[in-house]
Amino acid sequence: MTTLINPTLLKPQLQSPSTAPAYTIHLFRGGPISIAEYMEEVLTNPKAGFYINRDVFGAEGDFITSPEVSQMFGEMIGVWAMCLWEQMGQPNRVNLVELGPGRGTLMMDLLRGASKFKNFTESLHLHLVECSPTLQKLQHQNLKCVDEDHMADNVGKRTISTLAGTPVSWHSALEQVPSGLPTIIIAHEFYDALPVHQFQRVSHGWCEKMVDLEEDSSTFRFVLSPQPTPAILYLMKRCKWAATEEIAKLDQIEVCPKAMELTQTIAKRISSDGGGALIIDYGLNKVVSDSLQAIRKHKFVHILDNPGSADLSAYVDFASIRRSAEEVSGEVSVHGPMTQSQFLGSLGINFRVEALLQNCTEEQAESLRTGYWRLVGEGEAPFWEGPEEEVPIGMGTRYMAMSIVNKKQGTPVPFQ
Ligand code: SAH
Repeated sequence: MTTLINPTLLKPQLQSPSTAPAYTIHLFRGGPISIAEYMEEVLTNPKAGFYINRDVFGAEGDFITSPEVSQMFGEMIGVWAMCLWEQMGQPNRVNLVELGPGRGTLMMDLLRGASKFKNFTESLHLHLVECSPTLQKLQHQNLKCVDEDHMADNVGKRTISTLAGTPVSWHSALEQVPSGLPTIIIAHEFYDALPVHQFQRVSHGWCEKMVDLEEDSSTFRFVLSPQPTPAILYLMKRCKWAATEEIAKLDQIEVCPKAMELTQTIAKRISSDGGGALIIDYGLNKVVSDSLQAIRKHKFVHILDNPGSADLSAYVDFASIRRSAEEVSGEVSVHGPMTQSQFLGSLGINFRVEALLQNCTEEQAESLRTGYWRLVGEGEAPFWEGPEEEVPIGMGTRYMAMSIVNKKQGTPVPFQ
């Protein structure tokens, strides 16, 4: 069962991992698994996956996301969605899809912020793509949903968000969202949770980095595949999209086939139904080398440590999203990426913060200013006076926004 080629080729990791939990052991019967299989299992295993049984967000959880930082984030995404809806010709029925809505905070702020624009909110049917039953319940609660019985007209139960009177449905994948209506898709910090494969350059080519059990089955370890694995096809495809010099510089490459496939599903849907998608995440506009990380309780931990108890995420390769969309359809155009700071700034977040500051308590003003800075700032907050380990780090340039739209809509704001 040992397929170890040369462990010294692997990047040194932080500390030795803890005991392998029983539930994953069955995966190793046929030998090592890819990092992608490991990541998928750790995050979304229906019994013990990181996202499945708990609320992982916020100060009390494991990490914080932009919608949890400030209400202004969801409100600005709402402004973007309304602008696109106008460019789509203000259709009176629209599917608004969110991939991985977390606590539902972005959607809650979007609906509340847009509630004055009745023509927009009344056109919406919300579709939330969420794998976690716990988070689905939280989304139901935060969107102030009520379940209505519609047995009389044979449509069964209907769920309505009372925030804007919009119907809401849950799905486990984008493919399950009914097609046929113009569609707006939002993916915030969804792509970074999709499983990545990691490859390592060796003397005879590229090997895939795998996860294996130690001889005594007590811990996990990294090994290299002795021969090329099927995922090498995705590596080859990704390398073809890059300049030879870009690849020559790298000894490790990360590839996310699920991100390529999801982008193609999005692009096909937008080609057939009209509309557009917005993807915001942290990442690079080029080949990603080695970015997979694990975070538990706001601290970096070893990727193999206590699987299921820490978030695993990887940089999003925006260049490959662009190529995947363009490859599958000539009817969509891809815009960006631009930094989150440019994106929110061009949509007018500074006017929004000024308006909110007009009418608030001193405490709220403090939180608005910190939130604004976290969303658009860069590096460590210069004004921070609290404990050093809690200094807010700006998300303004680490996060990027990209949009895929049906060409009929023209260029989406603020990508002109
Ligand atoms: N967008 C939210 C949450 C980001 S975390 C925010 O910004 O706060 C990732 C979200 O995607 C979680 O809701 C998680 O449960 C969901 N998720 C992760 N992988 C998924 C998958 N394969 N299918 C469906 N949902 C998934």
